Amino acid sequence: MNYRHAYHAGNFADVMKHAALALAIEHLKQKEKPFFLLDTHAGTGLTDLGGVEAQKTGEFLDGIARILADPAPHPALAPYLATLARLGCMGPAPMSYPGSPLIARELARPGDRLAFCELHPDDAASLKSLFRRDGQVGVHEMDGYSALKAMLPPKERRGLVLIDPPFEARDEFDTVLAGLGEAMARWATGTYLIWYPVKDPSVSGAFLDALETRGPAKTLMAELHIRGAEDASRLSGCGLVIVNPPWTLKETLADLYGWLAERLAQGPGARARVEWLKS
Ligand code: SAM
Repeated sequence: MNYRHAYHAGNFADVMKHAALALAIEHLKQKEKPFFLLDTHAGTGLTDLGGVEAQKTGEFLDGIARILADPAPHPALAPYLATLARLGCMGPAPMSYPGSPLIARELARPGDRLAFCELHPDDAASLKSLFRRDGQVGVHEMDGYSALKAMLPPKERRGLVLIDPPFEARDEFDTVLAGLGEAMARWATGTYLIWYPVKDPSVSGAFLDALETRGPAKTLMAELHIRGAEDASRLSGCGLVIVNPPWTLKETLADLYGWLAERLAQGPGARARVEWLKS
């Protein structure tokens, strides 16, 4: 496990993922009944953007820093940006950036329940320390795919699963497909958000094809490309597969990711693509 998210915190991929996560959680809050949220690959929860890792890549400068500098952010960013503001991560030069667990925790209500899994011992320790006095949060140093079997279905019977692996392993796309199958067999009505990278479009395309042919119903894909995909060794974009999305999310993400493609472009070919894989 070489991947450390601190190098990438607040980059374009975090912006598109965390904005969608905030929208999905806001949707769950439209009903009073408590929800369960499982983050299978949670990271550390908070990154110091002045730290060695973030400063080395400067990726956040082409991500959240561009959004914070925009005088008129897209309206669908409101829950995400309000969360950053409450966490004290705003400002023309953001000094820290929250990960998915902290964003989810900030949006949760009393009574909602959250489980965060992280396999890297150092990152799991940071996460445990961040939530050590929080009775609504369980932090687990464990394999997130095992959690899909161990923690589903939740007793609340409503909620969200974020699957956000590092994609270091060559077979991670296959592992995600298998994990989603296991999870859906246990809990078919949950909302699932799965993040994936786009480098070689034929690789991410094969993943989407597999979902289209043998994946669950009501599955949406939403991609943000920051440049064309001519160099397959470089990240040119990323996507979210969303199973059981809130019914308005397709239109919202199509508009939002189109806006983000303009603001976060790093070369020709920046664009958004949002489609039903199965409706
Ligand atoms: N979800 C986080 C966010 O949005 O802020 C970022 C997560 S990062 C992309 C992936 C994380 O998964 C890394 O912190 C890595 O240490 C962890 N990881 C890798 N393999 C794992 C596994 N099998 N189970 C749980 N965590 C794992």
